Formats: sequence, structure tokens, C-alpha cells
Amino acid sequence: MEKLTKLAEIVGTDVVEQLFQLSHWLKDVTVVHVNSTREGGGVAEILRNLVSLMRELGIDAHWEVIEGTPEFFQCTKGIHNALHGHNVVIPDRLLSVYREVNRENAERLKDVLQDADVVFIHDPQPAALIEHFPDRKGKWIWRCHIDISKPQREVWKFLKQFVERYDGSIFHLASFAKRLSHPMYLIPPSIDPLGEKNIPLDREEIVKTYEELGIDLSRPVLLQVSRFDRLKDPIGVIQAYRMVKRFFPSVQLVLAGGGAKDDPESMAVLSEVRAAANGEKDIHVLFLPTNDRLINALQRGATIIIQKSIREGFGLTVTEGMWKYKPVIGGDTGGIRLQVINYHTGFLVNTPEGAALRIRYLLSHPEVRKEMGRKAHSFVKENFLITRHLRDYLSVMISQLYNIYERLELV
Ligand code: UDP
Repeated sequence: MEKLTKLAEIVGTDVVEQLFQLSHWLKDVTVVHVNSTREGGGVAEILRNLVSLMRELGIDAHWEVIEGTPEFFQCTKGIHNALHGHNVVIPDRLLSVYREVNRENAERLKDVLQDADVVFIHDPQPAALIEHFPDRKGKWIWRCHIDISKPQREVWKFLKQFVERYDGSIFHLASFAKRLSHPMYLIPPSIDPLGEKNIPLDREEIVKTYEELGIDLSRPVLLQVSRFDRLKDPIGVIQAYRMVKRFFPSVQLVLAGGGAKDDPESMAVLSEVRAAANGEKDIHVLFLPTNDRLINALQRGATIIIQKSIREGFGLTVTEGMWKYKPVIGGDTGGIRLQVINYHTGFLVNTPEGAALRIRYLLSHPEVRKEMGRKAHSFVKENFLITRHLRDYLSVMISQLYNIYERLELV
């Protein structure tokens, strides 16, 4: 069965029918997505799905990945952190590496990008590709997946010189958008309910997964799934757990994550987390290879999902937990705010103390956990599944290719 048919069983046939109607406007259109990694992190995950669904709709969709040196990724990690507002100094030498690597990739991808009708460039890493395509045929859109509402000015100024050249840009939330002289679109990301990470699993599989990891499923489990990144505040989660543990001695904490290939800092953060856990037997720090089914089982077996980020683009782990009928305790930041509705789908928190308070409340109110989980699931169904996401991308392509902005005199 085609994937869209299966999706229709979950979201309704009217939703999928609308996708086909929109795709009629995009016959014979070639679209290329470009990002910096094929695995790890939310962007790769979403691209894999979007591209295959666009193909099912009859659109000629492709996905390319830029190649870089360790120095390049060191630079782009610096840019990423600086755009999040951290005070990072990026030496001019590294900025030259950034431009040079983009030039090399532009050369390598010349044929596929030059003639594409629509090109989506994801995040800062490949943003500078555009300077090497002065005579490009298609519309180029910069898709930003991170919170750049309070960037370090120098670094944003550097990046903006490239972003300004695009025909449009996409942000997750209004508060992330910058003042730019081209059309800007707001598109929150999504999850795939048919992917290995989100499909329903038998209880047996969940139990077996927990057994193999040495975690006791008969006791409460707090789970945070995240790359080992300081912005995800794993240490804050351990602090919150310790405050809860005094009142609920049976509680366990699982911090599960892997490293994205473009993230050289993850190993250092992992060591910090292990040191903070200090060998405590009920804290499970898991450094995992990519394994969607395992993450799925972990999320389904958890009592409460935590995502205590200090900054967050969107927070797909929040969406994933909510889809699995779990209440989520999330950092009061970025896209988590779009998903965690206080007292309805979970709680927003700002400190380890706040997180501990909410965890204690939920642990002692199983009926509230159940009700919140139910609301969380239907909230995701309405707003954060791949079908809604795909519809938004098709709309952007139509708006660009048919010059809707100009027709409406919006620019
Ligand atoms: N993820 C995973 N394994 C890990 C850590 C994360 O599969 O060890 C997945 C997680 O389930 C989610 C994505 O990677 O789908 C992370 O997306 P999110 O938006 O939460 O954070 P990002 O890594 O993009 O900052």
C-alpha cells in the first residue's frame, strides 16, 4: 500500500485528498533539499519523509547532503551556538573554511542545483551555496530549523549576507523570524506516525527493550531522549531527578542520546553527564546508535517524558512523546511552547526545581497523566503530523512558483 493511503487511515482521507489537489499545481517540478547530515538530529529525519512523500505525489524531489571537514563542522557548530545567542568568537580563518567548503560543494552539486525549479537549503551549514549560483534557474528558499531570535549580532550579520539572496525563508515560529526583505513563511516541523519511531509496538517488545537495558519497567521511568548537547540541559534533568528521588525512591531516570555527525561537542557533554550521574544505579545514561525502534520502545515505556531544553528549535522528542500518549515536562522555550500547553498536554518549566515539582505532581496523579496523554496525542494529530507539514511545503512552492506574493502585492 502506498504510504499516503496508510496515512489517510490515520489522518482522514480529506487531508490526503487535499495534498493531491495541491500537487496538481506542481507537476513536472523538480525540487532539491540540501542539508549537512543524512543521520542524527531532527532535520535529517524530516527530510527523509518529506522527500519520499513528495515523490509519491508525483513531484520530482531530491535530497543532497553537503560534505565538510572537521574544521568546517567546528565552524558551523560555532555559528549554531552563536545564533542561539551564545558568546562564541569564530575566527576569520574558520569563516573562510566555511565559505570554501560551500564553494567546493557548490561545484560538486552544480548540475543538480543549477536547474532545479525549487531548492530548499536547510540551516546555516549550506547557506553560502547560493553565492555560487548567480544564474540559478529556480526559486531558492532558506529553511531555518533553529531559534535565531537573539543571535550574536556579528555572526547573524555574516550569515545574513547569504540569506538575503534567497527568494524566501522559512522559520518554525513567528518569534524566530528575522527582518528580511523577502517572503517569510512559518512552518513548524512534524513526525511520521508510520515511521519506526512512532508506529504502535507490542507491550512485549517494550518490556524486552527495557529488560535488555537493565531498566525496571515496574517502577516509574522519567525519560529524556536528546543528543548530548548542553542546550538540552541533561545536567538540569539529573538535578530535578535527585529532588524527586527523595520523595519517590522508586523513580528511575533514563537519559538516552546519540551524537549527530556534525556535532563534535557531544562526547564532551556525555562525559559531563556521566560525571554528574556519579554511578547512581537508577540513572541510566545511554549512548545509543541510531535505532528508531528502540527510541520508540523507550518512549512508550516511560511514565513521563522530559525535554528540559534551555533553547530549542522545535523539539521533535516532545512531539514523539505526546503522540505516545505521554505528558511532557518541557523547557519553556522555542517550539516546546507550541506543543506543551500548561495543564493540558504537560508542563512548561524554567528550572530543575520547577521540573521536580511537576514530576512529583504527575507521579502522584496517574489519572491526570492519562488525561494529559490523551490530549497530547490528539493535539499532535491535529497539528504536528507529516501530512500537515507536507501541505505547508507544497503551499510554499506554489506561492513561489506562481509569484503569489507579487500578485497580492505583499512584497
Ligand atoms: N534522536 C534519536 N536518537 C538519539 C537522540 C535523538 O533517534 O539518540 C531523535 C529524536 O527521537 C528526535 C530527533 O532525534 O526525533 C531529535 O530532534 P529534536 O528536534 O528533539 O532535537 P535536535 O537534535 O534536532 O536538536
